[in-house]
Amino acid sequence: MLRVLKKNKGFDSTMFNRKKKLRVGIIDADLLDHGTRHPNLALEKISGFCKAKGHEVRLICDYGELDLKIPFFPQDSEYDVICLSQVFKFTKRPSEIDFLIKNKFIYYGGTGFLEEFNDDVKQLPTLPEEVEHHMPDYTLYDEYIKKQTGGDPKKIKRDYDDYVSYSIGFTTRGCIRHCAFCVNRELNGVYPWSPVSEFIDETRPKIYLWDDNIMAAPAGVFNQVMGNLIATGKPFQFRQGMDIRLMTDEKAVLFKNVKYYGDYIFAFDHYRLDDPVERKQVEQTIKGIEIWKKYVTRETKLYVLVAFDSQDERDIEGTFWRIQKLMEYGCLPYIMRFEEYNNSRFKTLYTQLARWCNQPSFFKKMSFRQYCIRNEEYHQGIQKKVTDGKYPKKLKFPKGFKPKPTYCACYRAMMEFEQEFPEIARRYYDLRFEDINPYKIKK
Ligand code: SF4
Repeated sequence: MLRVLKKNKGFDSTMFNRKKKLRVGIIDADLLDHGTRHPNLALEKISGFCKAKGHEVRLICDYGELDLKIPFFPQDSEYDVICLSQVFKFTKRPSEIDFLIKNKFIYYGGTGFLEEFNDDVKQLPTLPEEVEHHMPDYTLYDEYIKKQTGGDPKKIKRDYDDYVSYSIGFTTRGCIRHCAFCVNRELNGVYPWSPVSEFIDETRPKIYLWDDNIMAAPAGVFNQVMGNLIATGKPFQFRQGMDIRLMTDEKAVLFKNVKYYGDYIFAFDHYRLDDPVERKQVEQTIKGIEIWKKYVTRETKLYVLVAFDSQDERDIEGTFWRIQKLMEYGCLPYIMRFEEYNNSRFKTLYTQLARWCNQPSFFKKMSFRQYCIRNEEYHQGIQKKVTDGKYPKKLKFPKGFKPKPTYCACYRAMMEFEQEFPEIARRYYDLRFEDINPYKIKK
């Protein structure tokens, strides 16, 4: 039977000090709604903590298994306690779950609840110390993964590698940047958080870190963290776009020489040159890239935040401008759409820019115009074979071909923008990574 909680925002660890064995159900709301690539670390820590106290914990693999009949569910429930976490605001939950949250039957937390329950960044609940610094239970998702894959190692590797191959943690927390779009905007410094020993599972081959801004850590903290990571002998990776504005020669050399797993990923959020504060950010970003490229030849990606500053042609131009800059430094853009893009009249164009950039196999070979033409050809049912690596620069139908009366969304968005803003299109539509990337040319 589900207990009524005194306070259900966040998680109260004192309830688990009692001797009576509790049955704890865990809900990863993002996973159950749309699936997610990342395990929820807070839930893994809650699970680790509860199991260590002798309680029984299970990840709920489907809302259907709960038989959520209100008002009978709380007394009929096989669980004593349910904990739910949600990272994304857009994640949907069944109305019955919201009823249970509002009536204090479920502990809830996570950045996905920002605003929804009149929270703001300062009020977001954090885990109690003893839970926050508990070893995560990396087995929490095992049953779910088995159900999804039938235990097929290939499928597990393809879809759930983040769940099964990594130790995960925050070696530091905090930031100094105050970006208006970020949950860390109120923070004023970077401080040590978890020693690697707190979350490392020796049986797992890799490590990934969720540090907010490792590059802004004081030198002593940065060096200690890196030393500890190197000492594990395992490949590791920072998953947040790192702050390239704080790149130094020493840091670039260090990153080049460590066992870094996957692509190096940084952030390129700013583009406005007409505002002195923004301009400084742009200059620092470019300077950081220049330092980086002196030492590192491996593939480097930068998150390009779009539709935050505005959602108009100026923002589209700022996006293309950053894409061009990255091409010039042989780096790949990864478009991150701020949710306001949904309200832009250029919504489809933003989507197509993301599809073009975020798939390196397209981005490296085709200009934006060529990418849109290929989409239109596909829409028309024309499958041209590209044997010499040359993609068409103009849409041309074969002789006698009767095209469909409407263009595909991609081609139409590209064309309409060009008609309205020919100068922006002239400058950027035909740029190709392969032509511009100087590092490729040198080889
Ligand atoms: S630099 Fe990153 S972590 Fe820091 S406030 Fe900006 S987005 Fe957030």
